[in-house]
Amino acid sequence: MTTSSLLPNFLGGQWQTGTGEGTPLFDPVLGTELARVSSAGLDLAAGFRFAREQGGRALRALSYGERAGLLAAIVKVLQAHREAYGEIATANSGTTAKDSAVDIDGGIFTLGFYAKQGESLGGAHALLDGERIRMGKDPVFQTQHVLQPTHGVALFINAFNFPSWGLWEKAAPALLSGVPVIIKPATATAWLTQRMVKDVIDANILPVGALSVVCGSSAGLMDQLQPFDVVSFTGSADTAAIIRSHPAVACAGVRCNIEADSLNSALLDPAATADSEAFNLLVSEVVREMTVKSGQKCTAIRRVFVPRALYDAAAQAIGAKLTKISVGNPRNESVRMGSLVSQAQKASVLEGIAKLRTEAEVLFDGSGVALVDADAAVAACVAPTLLGAREPAKAKVLHEVEVFGPVATLMAYDSIEEAYELIRRGEGSLVCSVYSADPAFTAGAALALGSAHGRVHAISPDVAASQTGHGNVMPMSLHGGPGRAGGGEELGGLRALGFYHRRSAVQASSAALDALAASAVALKY
Ligand code: NAP
Repeated sequence: MTTSSLLPNFLGGQWQTGTGEGTPLFDPVLGTELARVSSAGLDLAAGFRFAREQGGRALRALSYGERAGLLAAIVKVLQAHREAYGEIATANSGTTAKDSAVDIDGGIFTLGFYAKQGESLGGAHALLDGERIRMGKDPVFQTQHVLQPTHGVALFINAFNFPSWGLWEKAAPALLSGVPVIIKPATATAWLTQRMVKDVIDANILPVGALSVVCGSSAGLMDQLQPFDVVSFTGSADTAAIIRSHPAVACAGVRCNIEADSLNSALLDPAATADSEAFNLLVSEVVREMTVKSGQKCTAIRRVFVPRALYDAAAQAIGAKLTKISVGNPRNESVRMGSLVSQAQKASVLEGIAKLRTEAEVLFDGSGVALVDADAAVAACVAPTLLGAREPAKAKVLHEVEVFGPVATLMAYDSIEEAYELIRRGEGSLVCSVYSADPAFTAGAALALGSAHGRVHAISPDVAASQTGHGNVMPMSLHGGPGRAGGGEELGGLRALGFYHRRSAVQASSAALDALAASAVALKY
């Protein structure tokens, strides 16, 4: 690719290049320009109409089983190009091979999961939700709740940190549901999303109009939405507020899912000791969460709650592991942590650390160590920083500001009730992990914290080797969180299909419901 070529958009069933100079995408380690994106001059109205009418009709003509087959075919195409995706991720996201795999393989795995789930729905065209319910004394007239794919498009507006997984974790359930997808990736890392869509389009797997990509400015996208369309947004709370208040959502009833930022927590059992396995498991997981993808994960641990007596031991143990994290150019095999995605993110993370420091002490600061194979003046690298608060109840900023980088804050608690209360000051988060060898404590914590989180990830010594990781979003489990985390719900196996379907109650004779059931399948989670 020449340095300033514009990545074409795929809309209205054809490749279209935006007008103007476009916005450049950079290598965040080397500072070089990689490509440009532009959505200027596209006929968005025609593109959305094409997807809604042609793509939607063609997808709905297929059964769930047939659409599951399309997902399986997409998996094969993406696997065939995996190496190229790794190169794009290294260049455009500044990630190590391992961190790129979290995004790339995570997306492919999620697609494969939904391909399997969809197979189980077979030749049906609608989903039966629950049993028939009698409406009166006479059992002949009953109600059956039915889910049918919405006759609209699914617009995805995604964040920069998961250009692959962010696309496929949404597109898999949408396409399986029979709803065409228009993806608008975050500009900074749009290249990988665009390339994956290109490979799938070139492979001629999907009906035309089922998958479109618009790179560049988001201007005008929300204006295209109509009542049966849906929009799924992942990104910052500030942009989420703009999406939520757009007339399409606020007035026209467009269904909207928001995945926003989150101050996720890790909690150590008050009964743990510094030589317990629960303590060691927490320490390892905190270090992993701080450093995987340089902490640019919406699920990453931001606040770490330990009993006061273990505060110093935890600070020391986490710091000791962080000293081993080499930071720099991800092309160098000795590098454990690459860069942030852009200079803008670097500035934002450094500003965020400064804000947190107004209420926290610095327990570990890796910034004194030279970068490996990278120029500190050019590369968007930020070393890991562990902050600490001995009196977190007095803090405000620490429970409010998400620093989207390799940063976490250790917090001391005196009683478990205080810990629960402090965790809830995140005002709704994606995930909380709990570290304990005691099943009764774990169960109590799960019930105490569940209503404020989309997921409670409990790690005990017996699951140490098999647990899937605090920050890893698995397609069989719910992803999303209440309140500040956006209030959205994604994944969770077949639960994800609900967002792309409309539920209606069909009140009819048993004979009519029998006829309807012939083309539907019972939805079982
Ligand atoms: P962002 O700045 O809010 O951008 C997100 C997306 O919105 C981008 O595609 C952006 O396009 C687009 N956008 C910007 N202004 C818009 C507008 N006025 N109307 C419509 N779309 C608009 O967020 P980000 O910096 O990319 O992502 C980081 C944040 O995402 C973090 O806070 C993180 O916690 C959150 N996140 C959450 C999850 C989750 O699942 N909960 C997952 C990943 C990330 P441009 O790039 O072109 O500006």
